[in-house]
Amino acid sequence: MNIILLGPPGAGKGTQSDLLVSRRGLIQLSTGDMLRAAVAAQSEVGLRAKAIMDRGDLVSDNVVIDIISDRLDQDDTKTGVIFDGFPRTVAQAEALDQLLSKKGMALDAVIEISVNEDALVARIANRAGESGGARADDNAEILRNRLVVYREQTAPIIPYYQEKGALKTVDGMASVEVVAASIAAILDAA
Ligand code: AMP
Repeated sequence: MNIILLGPPGAGKGTQSDLLVSRRGLIQLSTGDMLRAAVAAQSEVGLRAKAIMDRGDLVSDNVVIDIISDRLDQDDTKTGVIFDGFPRTVAQAEALDQLLSKKGMALDAVIEISVNEDALVARIANRAGESGGARADDNAEILRNRLVVYREQTAPIIPYYQEKGALKTVDGMASVEVVAASIAAILDAA
């Protein structure tokens, strides 16, 4: 089973992905995690991505599409993956469709975790406080930019998947377990 989790920064995609990994044995493919690993390894991709990520802007489509394509070539993804933080543009969504059909894979569900933006700012401020600001992009100003980027560049993929009849929305303002139960119900019906 292959699924996409969609939603703005702070919506809980990472938390829900972790639960799906432990409860359903899916593999989490987070382009954010992969890019942070590239930054930590000081690879060429990482060196170029760092400043963009620190501003909360999007790394170029080609870079993330290549990363995902390489990752999907590894055997462990055959049992099912969660795309977390990818696609983030319509161009990425189109590229993903092509990649999946080339690799003989299908999408079983696209799940949007819908949240109220004011609550997100509070949630992320909290996350920054808890982790001592471990992530350079976890502060209020950068978060606001990440939300603008989400609205302008990522939200257009919602109608893209709606038109394909693939989109399901869950209320991300509910508790972690209630959101997890809504997602489980969608996956069980898929
Ligand atoms: P995330 O951990 O998903 O919030 O991603 C952290 C940062 O990595 C984002 O703010 C972007 O700079 C970059 N990034 C992650 N995924 C993508 C993507 N699919 N397309 C472009 N940039 C991305």
